[in-house]
Amino acid sequence: MKYEIVIGLETHVELNTKSKIFCSCGGHSEAKEPNDCVCPACSGMPGMLPVMNKKVVELAVTAGLMLNCEISRYTTFDKKNYYYPDLPCAYQITQLNHPICTNGLVHLKTSEGERDIRIKQIHMEEDAGKLVHVGKASLVDFNRTSVPLIEIVTQPDFRSAEEVLVYLNKLKSMFRSGGISECEEGAMRCDVNISVRPEGSEEFGVRTEIKNMASFEAIERAIHYEAQRHMDAIEFETEELVQETRRFDDASGKTFAMRNKETEADYRYFPDANLMPIIIDDEWFEEIKANMPAAIDEKADEYRAAGISENEIEMIIDNHNVSTLLDAVVEIGCDPKSAVGWILTECAGVLRKNGKLIKDLDISAEKMAAIIKMVDSGDINRMNGRKTLTAVLEEDVDPAAYVKENGFDKKVDTATIEAIMDKVLAENTQALEDFRNGKVKAKQALFGACMRELKGIGDPAVIREMLDKKLG
Ligand code: ADP
Ligand code: MG
Ligand code: ZN
Repeated sequence: MKYEIVIGLETHVELNTKSKIFCSCGGHSEAKEPNDCVCPACSGMPGMLPVMNKKVVELAVTAGLMLNCEISRYTTFDKKNYYYPDLPCAYQITQLNHPICTNGLVHLKTSEGERDIRIKQIHMEEDAGKLVHVGKASLVDFNRTSVPLIEIVTQPDFRSAEEVLVYLNKLKSMFRSGGISECEEGAMRCDVNISVRPEGSEEFGVRTEIKNMASFEAIERAIHYEAQRHMDAIEFETEELVQETRRFDDASGKTFAMRNKETEADYRYFPDANLMPIIIDDEWFEEIKANMPAAIDEKADEYRAAGISENEIEMIIDNHNVSTLLDAVVEIGCDPKSAVGWILTECAGVLRKNGKLIKDLDISAEKMAAIIKMVDSGDINRMNGRKTLTAVLEEDVDPAAYVKENGFDKKVDTATIEAIMDKVLAENTQALEDFRNGKVKAKQALFGACMRELKGIGDPAVIREMLDKKLG
């Protein structure tokens, strides 16, 4: 018999905020040691009260708008009660009754065609801590407790692993370009709900839930394994399928039962009386909408129209800091293609030298634009532009002042260049002779000597041309 796979996803995404959801501790990415980013509130000391982080609401609403959701203008928090050592309060603050976003839609393009995935809801919640097992002991690290999350719950609308991966990649691009989340490994975790049914059947089969997978590769493997297990169970009656929670084991590529699926009643949900309902009034809602980043499809079209390549567009869109910088630099009046070259090639080069990545790029749009303009207008040459950029990135100097100090903006007239060239040719008789004897490389040595004499001033293209002429 032919079977259809049915999948619904619950995706947890860590939000890109400076502090945790209910206290002022920094996020766990700032932590150097276990329990570095912890205070009485997020370590569950008795009597401490949560204080809502406004930015979390704004990012959750932005994510909801990106996924075409209805936004609840009245939203509340609930306590989900369970006992586990990484949860110091023995309850998690989450949203059950009035989640912030509902009824969204995500449009996917897959190799099989186009698909719409319905979003059931998005809710805000706090993350739990981490248990670290050392020998026979278990240690607890609360750095991650109360880190803000959104959980995006889809309807059971996926029909293949491919659709799931296209969806997750789309969320990742959207959230990264929109500054919602960096979505690094571990900051985006998925529960996969899966069932199979005979093709053409209207009824859903028994579903299992595979918990907490952090890599796309694991998700794909887990789906293939679990779907096959379901089909075998039905087709050959190898086992009885029960609704349960399972874990994926990376080494064996198999899933294993963890526990029977808990029901809502197991958690004794009740409203969290320590947190006021949040009311998003018109003014606040309009403000959030006004700060929405452009949809990625629109943005990509904009970059394409400016002549930027597909590869570059992908890098720009995947890095929120890059797209914000590029947009600002273009706004100041730089040529988009030139700006892309400076950001993706030159800046990336300096960062690499310092063991950093493009996502670490941190330069003001004013300084970046100043360098690009000085080079593009011919005030300084490209090589000195690069030196200036290095000084800005490494020591945060002022570009114009740095250029003056080093004399990069000095002009040389043709007569001076001629004189210097004559001197160089007179002093480098060997290289000159080599060139005359057909050694092309010797010309490069002469050119280098001229540039050194000129102390890096002047347009290399012009100087090369003059040298060519001189050498006949
Ligand atoms: P619960 O309240 O038990 O968590 P939900 O209705 O919230 O159940 O659904 C949890 C997830 O399971 C959702 O993403 C949903 O799409 C998915 N799901 C529900 N039924 C099935 C099914 N038969 N097969 C696959 N996924 C399903
Ligand atoms: Mg659920
Ligand atoms: Zn804290």
